Amino acid sequence: MEVIKVTPRGYCYGVVDAMEIARKAARDPSLPRPIYIIGLIVHNRFAVEELQRLGVTTLDGPNRAEILNQASEGTVIFTAHGVSPRVKERARARGLHILDATCPDVTKTHDLVLDFAGRGYQILYIGKKGHPEPEGVMGEAPNAVYLVENEADLDALPERILTAEKLMVTTQTTLSQWDTLRLVEAIRRRFPYAEVYNEICKATQDRQEAVARMARGCELTIVVGDPRSNNTNRLVQVAEELAGSPAVRIESLADLPPGILDGKQRVAITAGASTPSQITREVVRFVQEYGVTTRVLPQFDGEELASQTTRPTQTTANETIPAMRDDG
Ligand code: SF4
Repeated sequence: MEVIKVTPRGYCYGVVDAMEIARKAARDPSLPRPIYIIGLIVHNRFAVEELQRLGVTTLDGPNRAEILNQASEGTVIFTAHGVSPRVKERARARGLHILDATCPDVTKTHDLVLDFAGRGYQILYIGKKGHPEPEGVMGEAPNAVYLVENEADLDALPERILTAEKLMVTTQTTLSQWDTLRLVEAIRRRFPYAEVYNEICKATQDRQEAVARMARGCELTIVVGDPRSNNTNRLVQVAEELAGSPAVRIESLADLPPGILDGKQRVAITAGASTPSQITREVVRFVQEYGVTTRVLPQFDGEELASQTTRPTQTTANETIPAMRDDG
């Protein structure tokens, strides 16, 4: 069997940094105790459990402002997904020490929304309902931002969007590039004057493009990641729809359906941006035992690239979908 280790895969720089902030906090005796994380530090059970073992408690629930009521003292860590200003204010008002692990790519979207709302724009934000990242971004300007997830949502837009003279469109960082492009085109047909800013992050784009390219011709693509991880689920979608490869998402090796590798000649493996490398490595090792040939493209192992902390020197996320670029 030929095993294709998709590169890059796994941890992105935002997740690496968030985990490091939480680990350092656990080791720092000068920080007020207890230490809480408000929401899941990243969408991965194993990462959450690692921090729990270090004494950092995760408080999770649908409303992060309400979750804060459970923390009466100590330190709170905001996750890589970012939080709304309301959550920050409430933490300050409760006298909690704050560590902010928001990914800079998410912060960039917060700033963008704040800037355009301040200049009188209404904003269509393409994102996933119920996900913490849209909740945080929309909290920057609740009266200006409206969340849409698919084309059907465009049939139920509020009056303030329909009548807006100035309209901006932006996105969650972890969406499918191709779905987003389709939705943006639908928005442009209705609102040709809308200014579009694609905020899908570079890490997400790189992982999706790698799967679209490298899983082609594979009889199976295994995507390792948590069911709550949006970027993981998008990798499954990209493998199936763009690479034409049947795909299965597993949280860890224990989830691999029995017999699924039987008779396969070519299998691709990738992992979501919040999946610890160790979990993916176990899956790779297991699959390799079925065959003798392992192919790594390009000429380095994706684990090394995926675990590096270096950020891109310049944000180039807007460059991948030129049709969406509109600097107005
Ligand atoms: S997926 Fe992108 S936005 Fe999310 S933490 Fe990673 S780099 Fe940041």
